[in-house]
Amino acid sequence: MTWISHILIGFFLNDLLLKFSGVCMGLYLVGLVLPDVMEYNHRTIGHSLLLWLPPFVVTYLVFRDVFNYYLPLFVGVVVHIFLDCFSKSGVRIFYPSDFRVRFGLYKTYSWSEWLILGISVVIYWYFKGGFV
Ligand SMILES: [Zn+2]
Repeated sequence: MTWISHILIGFFLNDLLLKFSGVCMGLYLVGLVLPDVMEYNHRTIGHSLLLWLPPFVVTYLVFRDVFNYYLPLFVGVVVHIFLDCFSKSGVRIFYPSDFRVRFGLYKTYSWSEWLILGISVVIYWYFKGGFV
C-alpha cells in the first residue's frame, strides 16, 4: 500500500476510533509509515512483529513513561502492517520466518488499492455525517 493510503486510512481510523491527539497523534502518524521508510527491501524486518513487540512488552513492564509514547507509534505500525496484509503479496509478520499473512484484496499502486482508498473515504465521510 502506498504511503498516502496508509496516512489517509490511518487518519480516518484515528479520527473515528483511536482518538490520539497532540504528540501521540504525531507518533501514531510516524508509525503509519515507519515500516516502509526504514526498509531497503520492502516488507522484511520493518513489517515484522518480532521487531515491534519486544519494545512494547519491555516498555509496558519497565518503562511506563516511555510506553505512553511508544504505544501510539506501535499502534501506527500495527495498523500499517494490518493494511499491508490485505495486499496480494501479504506480509511476513514474523520475518525472517516465511509465514505470511495475505488476504489478497488489492495490488499496491493499482486500481484495487485506489478502490479501497475510495471506499475508506466514503465510510469516513458517512461516519462524520457527510450524507446528512
Ligand atoms: Zn508496508
